[in-house]
Amino acid sequence: MRAHNFCAGPAALPEAVLQKAQAELLDWHGKGLSVMEMSHRSDEYVAVAEKAEQDLRDLLAIPSNYKVLFLQGGASQQFAQIPLNLLPEDGIADYVDTGIWSKKSLEEARRFGNVNVAASAKAYDYFAIPGQNDWQLSKNAAYLHYASNETIGGLQFDWVPDLGDVPLVVDMSSDILSRPIDVSQFGMIYAGAQKNIGPSGLVVVIIREDLLGKARSICPTMLDYKVAADNGSMYNTPATFSWYLSGLVFEWLKEQGGVEEMERRNRAKQELLYGAIDASDFYTNPIARNARSWMNVPFRLADEKLDKVFLAGAEARGLLNLKGHRSVGGMRASIYNAVGLDAVQALVGYMAEFEKEHG
Ligand code: PMP
Repeated sequence: MRAHNFCAGPAALPEAVLQKAQAELLDWHGKGLSVMEMSHRSDEYVAVAEKAEQDLRDLLAIPSNYKVLFLQGGASQQFAQIPLNLLPEDGIADYVDTGIWSKKSLEEARRFGNVNVAASAKAYDYFAIPGQNDWQLSKNAAYLHYASNETIGGLQFDWVPDLGDVPLVVDMSSDILSRPIDVSQFGMIYAGAQKNIGPSGLVVVIIREDLLGKARSICPTMLDYKVAADNGSMYNTPATFSWYLSGLVFEWLKEQGGVEEMERRNRAKQELLYGAIDASDFYTNPIARNARSWMNVPFRLADEKLDKVFLAGAEARGLLNLKGHRSVGGMRASIYNAVGLDAVQALVGYMAEFEKEHG
C-alpha cells in the first residue's frame, strides 16, 4: 500500500507515472534496454527529451521566444548561475527576501556583484509579503529576483510584481505547474524538479532569448545559459532518467487536465487544510491570508511537547513526512500536485482525532 507522502522534496510522484516507468524500466518501447542505458544522442532519447520539452511548453503555454533548459545542479546552483549570466560586473540586481530560499539566493549573488535587497518580509517576521509600493527598487537593476513560494516558511506570492522593463527572475521550485502562469511576465523562471516536476537531479530553466549571451567572461562553460540553449541542454550528458521521468509527469498533467485542473484541485486541498487549522484552537498557521502557500502548509500544535506523539501517530496511519523543517520546527504538510485530496482528507481526519484526544 502506498502511503500519503507530505514530503517537501523529493516529493510524492503520481502513482500512474511510477507504474509507467516500472513497466518501461527493463525494456523501453521494445528496444531491449532501459531509457537509463541509452545514449543521450540516440534518436530514441532525443525524441523522449523533445517530447518532454514540448509537453511542458504546452502546459505553461511557453511563448516561442523562450528557451527551455534541462540542467543539473539543482535550484541552488541557479543562485550563482543567475548573476554569472545576468549581472554585469558593474551592475546591480534587486532581490526580494521572503524567507530562507530567497535569502540564500541573494547571499550567493553577493559573491558576484552588487545586490540591493529591495524588500524583506523580515519586517513582518516572514509572515507576510511587503507590497510592491514599499519596495526600494534600484534605478537600473539588471533583474529582480524573488521566490514565488517559500517552501520552508509557507509564504507564497499570489501576485506578480510589475517592473516594466526590468526582467523578473523567479524561483518557482515549489509552485511551478500548480496553477496557470503567464510566462511572458518573466525574464526567467527556474525550478528544481523534485517537487512538482519529477525526481531530483534536474533543474528546469525557462529563459527569454534576449537574456542569453550575456554571461561574464569568467562564467564556466557549463554554467552559460547560451551554451546550454545552443546545445539543446546536451553540452554534456544530461540527467537522462530524471528528464524522462519528468516527461512522464508532464504527460500525466496533460491527461489530468493541465494546470487549470491542478489549480482547481490545489485550491480545494489548501482550503480544506487551512480551514481545519483555522477552525481549531489547537493548530495554528501564522501566515497572512493572502500569502499562505497552497503547496507547503506549516502548522504548529498548541503544545510542542506533543509533536513527537503527533508524528508517530501520523506515521502509523501512513501519513508520512509531516515534520517541519529543522530551522522552524512544528509540522509542515507539502501538498504538491501528486498529493491528492484523499491524502489531505486523511490528514485532516487524523488532526481532528488527535485534537480530541490531546487538545
Ligand atoms: N528554492 C526553493 C524555493 C526550494 O524549495 C529549494 C529546495 N527545497 C531550493 C531552492 C533548492 O533546491 P535544490 O535542493 O534543488 O538546490
